[in-house]
This record gives sequence, structure tokens and C-alpha cells, in this order.
Amino acid sequence: MNNTALKIQVEKIKVSKIDQVDFDNLSFGSVFSDHMLVCDYKNGSWEAPKIVPYQPISLDPSAKIFHYGQSIFEGMKAYKDENDEIFLFRPLDNCRRLNISAKRMAMPELPEEFFMEGLTALLELDKDWIPRNAGSSLYIRPFMFASGTGFHASPANQYKFIIATAPSGSYFAGKVKVLIEEKYSRSANGGVGYAKAGGNYAGQFYPTQLAVEKGYNQVIWTDDNTHENIEEAGAMNIFVRIGDTLITGPTSDRILDGITRKSILEIAKDEGIATEVRKITVSELVEAAKKGTLKEMFGAGTAAVVSPIATFGYRDTDYDLPELENSYASRLKKRITDIQYNRAEDPFGWRFKV
Ligand code: PMP
Repeated sequence: MNNTALKIQVEKIKVSKIDQVDFDNLSFGSVFSDHMLVCDYKNGSWEAPKIVPYQPISLDPSAKIFHYGQSIFEGMKAYKDENDEIFLFRPLDNCRRLNISAKRMAMPELPEEFFMEGLTALLELDKDWIPRNAGSSLYIRPFMFASGTGFHASPANQYKFIIATAPSGSYFAGKVKVLIEEKYSRSANGGVGYAKAGGNYAGQFYPTQLAVEKGYNQVIWTDDNTHENIEEAGAMNIFVRIGDTLITGPTSDRILDGITRKSILEIAKDEGIATEVRKITVSELVEAAKKGTLKEMFGAGTAAVVSPIATFGYRDTDYDLPELENSYASRLKKRITDIQYNRAEDPFGWRFKV
């Protein structure tokens, strides 16, 4: 794709920072590529996007992002194959979800071509930042926030949309241990749980810190009403395998409709794995763990890909999951990453060549 349609103005960095990066030891999302895409919303419409060197942004202290939290984001990745071709995975789904989030937060929707053409132009310019190393990729962070000013608690009249990117390695190092949360809630019916709104994450940090102090990596949220149903984790949807059936909870007002989740469901069906989308109760999980029918649990998300859960904690008891040969998690992770990195056929049409 080229950027002729939108006329994206490009200001290139004078001296690239790429030589300062150790691509063999990348952490997740902590070094940033040379350029970013910036697009301003003013007077009721989006101005043409610009690509500029990655840099701090200046905001008025009364910018509404600081006070009322109108802030949404997306998370996606660019992958490089062995011929240095660049691919995205279902990028339009991220664009559409951004606009679902925007609507819920009373923010302006972004035209799809701004997202897609802006992103592809940015990736073409910073293509050397996309790692080639196994398991690494360029993490892409599109985000939008209220830059308009005023202490009146109402939606802003100006917004900024930015895409920044970060060459990244894996999200979790080592075994994942999760705690099933019964007191705090991530979201509620009628709330904003299905939006990728910054505040959803801020609200998770304190309960997650408490879990980390107890030796867990992440919290598994349960529904706010009964705390009986497994919902999702911090930045992952959750799958469990009981017997030979792979189960994940239904999406709702309270859960982010994960692109990895829905892809894993389709791949599992294609693999002939029995799948169910239904409520999973904590009691069912604990009982299955005690009986030995709980074979696997894993998180699924763009950053975490497919991350097997080694242990879950519930009411002061830890339940360890068995280590399986040829687990569903490893099979599904291989299938999805083979599609993402262009190592296998993509019968679903998900891969998008930049
Ligand atoms: N749930 C939450 C709360 C998340 O932040 C994410 C990451 N975007 C996911 C699930 C997984 O979504 P996806 O597969 O689209 O990355």
C-alpha cells in the first residue's frame, strides 16, 4: 500500500536511533522507533495525518485527558518474514475496535483510511525497526486522547490520534501464575469493559499489585455481580481445557472482544478441537482441577500471544496445571504465529501484507 491517497506529510529524523538498540535482548514496549504518526481533530474533523520524529508532546494543563480520562488505545504487531516482507494481523479489526471504544467514550471516530494508510506509511518508513529475531515483533500502539481544554466535565472538542511503535520481545518471562479475584472488579454491566479505555487499566493496577505481592503475575477477573464467572485477565482473554474441550467465556459489555481470542476459536475448530463459548464458573474450574480433568489454561492476546498458565490461585489455595506434551496451547500458538510470520498458509485471510 502506498500513501499517495492521503498525502501524509513526512518529517524524517535527522539521525536514526536504531544503532543504540540491542535487537537480541529486547524487552516489551520500552524502546521506541524513530517516527510516530500524529493526527489532530479540530473544528469537527480530522486533519491530515503527519509522520514526525518520535518526541514528547506538549499539552495544556487543562487538557481533558488529565481530568476526565478520555483516552483509548489499541495494541497490534508488525511481523517480518525471512524475506523481510512485512505483515499485520487482522489490522482492520483493531481499527474498528478503536472506533467502538471511541464511541463509548464520546470521542470522534477515526476514518478507517487514516488508520490503515497512516499505519502502513509509518511501517514503510520504520521497517528496519521490525525485528527479525524469533518471537520478536514491532509492537504498535495506536492511541487517541482528549487534547481539548477546560475544567468543565464534558467531552473535549479537540483530540489527538497517535501511532507509536516499539520493537519488542516476549511479554511474559517464565511461568504464568494467576490469582482469581473475588473482591475487586474490572468492569460492570453497562460500563466500559468492552472498550480499550485507559481507565480500565488504571483500575486494574492496584488489585494486580496486591496479587503480585502474593507472588502472582496477573489477576483473573470474575464478574462484578456474583464473582462466580471467569471473565478475562489484565491484557488477555482466558481459555480453559477441561477434558478435551476448549472453553472460553462469551464476550459481553464487560469483556474486551479480543482479536486473538476469536482467531484461536476459529483455528481450534479448524484443528478439529471441540470448542465451547460459555460461562465458566470458578467452582467448575476448582472441581476440574481437583478431579484432574482441568488439562490446560492459557491467556490469549496480541502482546502475550498464547501464554500457558502454570498455576491459578483461589482463596489461599494454589492449583497447578499439568505440563502436557503437544498441548492445545502449543499447537494453537504455532498455528497462529505461523500465519502471523508468513510461515504457513493463511486459509482465513487474516494476514495483511504491508
Ligand atoms: N483483554 C484485555 C483487557 C486486553 O487489554 C487485551 C489486549 N488487547 C485482550 C483481552 C486481548 O485482545 P487482543 O487479542 O485483541 O490483543
